[in-house]
Amino acid sequence: MSEELIISISGMRGIIGENLTAEIATEYGCGFGTFLKDKYGGGEKELSVCIGRDSRPSGEMLREAVTSGLCSVGIDVIDLGIVTTPGVGIMLRELKCEGGIVITASHNPSQYNGIKLLLDNGIAPQAAEAEKIKSCYFAKDFSLVDEANCGRSTVNGETNDFHISKVLAIIDKDLIRQKSFHVVLDSVNGAGGVIGKKLLAELSCKVVAINDEPTGDFAHTPEPIAENLTGLCEVVKKERAHVGFAQDPDADRLAIVDEAGVFIGEEYTLALAAKYIFSKQSGSAAVNLSTSRMIDDIAAKAGGRVYRTAVGEANVAGAMIEHNCVIGGEGNGGVIDLRIGPIRDSLLSIVLVLQLMAETGKSISELVGEIGSYYMRKDKFTADKAMAEQIIGEAKKIFSDAKVDTTDGCRFDFEGGWLHLRTSNTEPIMRIIVEAKDAGIAQKYLDAVAGIRQEIVG
Ligand code: MG
Repeated sequence: MSEELIISISGMRGIIGENLTAEIATEYGCGFGTFLKDKYGGGEKELSVCIGRDSRPSGEMLREAVTSGLCSVGIDVIDLGIVTTPGVGIMLRELKCEGGIVITASHNPSQYNGIKLLLDNGIAPQAAEAEKIKSCYFAKDFSLVDEANCGRSTVNGETNDFHISKVLAIIDKDLIRQKSFHVVLDSVNGAGGVIGKKLLAELSCKVVAINDEPTGDFAHTPEPIAENLTGLCEVVKKERAHVGFAQDPDADRLAIVDEAGVFIGEEYTLALAAKYIFSKQSGSAAVNLSTSRMIDDIAAKAGGRVYRTAVGEANVAGAMIEHNCVIGGEGNGGVIDLRIGPIRDSLLSIVLVLQLMAETGKSISELVGEIGSYYMRKDKFTADKAMAEQIIGEAKKIFSDAKVDTTDGCRFDFEGGWLHLRTSNTEPIMRIIVEAKDAGIAQKYLDAVAGIRQEIVG
């Protein structure tokens, strides 16, 4: 396997022993630290960064390396241990750190790891600041300090408890406790198992936890999508549980299995969370352009509105803050509630779904039935930037009757459905997402794009 080290807006990701090494991680720490000193007029103020990691065995090595880099430019480090990505986002604000780092490759297999950056607001850097961090790293002009000013590293083990108290504060604990929900939790041996079990125990759920040891020995391909969750579905059925929850290794995403052991699709996590939130109030939501229309239907019933953003958690979180949204997230199972933090959070998703079940007395399949369904299909194909532009140009001619949004690639909205064409920031790939009430209509969109692609790419 030989792939490039990917350096994107939210950090870097690579393969351990190939392109993501201790040396690179140390220099990345130096670069991020130098950026923070520039930003905060370093020297006068003592700056700190908190670091958490998911359960990958390579996480310790990377944490030590990136800590060395930060300390060498005079930044103090607070080591949070194995915690979730949202946990780091919450703690960095609680501890008033200038930055945060999560050592994780999220849903990617175990040979990968990554260094994800967060700024003091708990959000990944937006494009302009990400560019500055990148140039600090590539310039190698690090603002190293002398022996008296090296940063120090301390340990803080409070993340999970603090995180749990924050999510429990926004729901009716006693109501959920009365229901004694029977829950199966699949944490894929990532960072979410320990905190997930503790949270569910606090809610008096009867929990069957599978793959709940934070060993990083992923029991199945870690992305929480249908093909990887057959084991969870079986256990839910066998246990006759009310619900099954699956987290990805850094526990920001959540997928749900209903009481019959059927995976309901990752788009429903946000839809169910939004159904609960909008049952209490009106207001706005923010989601990316590739997220299902279910959220529009749910918000509309409550008299609310939906803001659409470019794909990327930082874009969604930024729009949520700007428009004071009551809920937001992404269709991949990532839910954001600003009362907890501007970051996707599987623990938040769990409590919102349990609260919805408790208040309505309805099962997951009944709640899903009430939301209704769309036919959604995602596909991708190889196309460089020039080809992608040509494809979008042709699509604009063919779909001239659509409402067009060019915030991120091009989204075409019709009465009966939509399609979104966008290029990847890291690979020469074009993604296509289509959604319609009717499978035939969705297929028509796909066929039209396939025709254009045939003409251009051959
Ligand atoms: Mg993740």
